[in-house]
Amino acid sequence: MRVANLAGRLALIEENGAVDVNRASSGLFGAGPQAIYEQWDAFSKWAVTVDRAGLGEPFDPADLGSPSPYPRQVFAVGLNYAAHASESGFRRPDEHPPVFTKFPSCITGPFGTVRLPRGGHTDWEVELVAVIGVRAEHIRSQDAWSHVAGLAVGQDLSERILQMASPSPQFSLGKSYPRFGPIGPWLVSVDGFADPDDLELGCWVNGEEVQKGRTSELIFSIPLLIETLSAVTPLLPGDVIFSGTPSGVGMGRHPQRFLSPGDELVSYVEDVGEMRHWFVA
Ligand code: ZN
Repeated sequence: MRVANLAGRLALIEENGAVDVNRASSGLFGAGPQAIYEQWDAFSKWAVTVDRAGLGEPFDPADLGSPSPYPRQVFAVGLNYAAHASESGFRRPDEHPPVFTKFPSCITGPFGTVRLPRGGHTDWEVELVAVIGVRAEHIRSQDAWSHVAGLAVGQDLSERILQMASPSPQFSLGKSYPRFGPIGPWLVSVDGFADPDDLELGCWVNGEEVQKGRTSELIFSIPLLIETLSAVTPLLPGDVIFSGTPSGVGMGRHPQRFLSPGDELVSYVEDVGEMRHWFVA
C-alpha cells in the first residue's frame, strides 16, 4: 500500500486516486499523517481488509507532504556506499557507520521550491528513506524489517561549506536548512516490494543523470542500520532513517558542481516513485 500525506491528511493512494483514511475508516483512524505510526499494526490490518474498490479521488501532486512530517528522531547515515565514501575522500566505514541527524524542521514534501543558502555550496544526495512503524530497541537485523512501516524517496540536501566548517566536521547543521529534507512522494509499505533490500535509486539535475545506484550496494543495509541504531537508542514509530547516498554528488565531481537558482532536481527510487524540486536564490 501507498500511504500519503495529502494536504495534511492521511491518505491511501489507489488506482483511481486518493482515499482519505479518516473518512474511509469512519473515524477509526485520525486525520493527521504522523499519529498513524503509533497504530501501525492496526492500520495495516485495516488497510488490507477494507474494500476500497472504486474509491479514490483525483488529487494534485503539489498537495503531497512528507509521509512522516514531524518525526521525533531523524537518523542519517554517511558514507554508506563504497564509491561515495571514496569520492568524498573518506575510507570505507566497515566497522561502524557515521550517523548524524537532519533536524526535523527541515523535513518537507516531494514537490516544491527550496531556497539556496546565500554563498553556500548546496549539493544533492538521493537516498532510500525508511520510516519506523513499530518501536525498535535492541533489534537484531534478521528481525528488523517487521519494525519498518515502509520506504520512501529522500533527498539529503547538504550545504557543503557549513557541513565541513569545523575541525571535526559535524554534518547535521549544514544538512538542516529549511526544506533540506524532502521525503516522498508517499510511503510504500514493506510488503509492496519483491526485495526491499535491492532497489534502484538515482537523481537528475536539469534532465542530466547525476546519481544512479542500487540499495543492494549499501555497506550497512536497512536491517543492519536498525540493529546498529537500536542497540544505542530506541527507534520510535514515525522515526526517519536516511540510509546514505550513492556516488555522483556534486562535491565529488571534477570540477565540483553545486545547485544553482533555476535548477530542477528529480529524485527516484524504484517501485516507490519520484520527487521534483526547484531551487531559488
Ligand atoms: Zn546523506
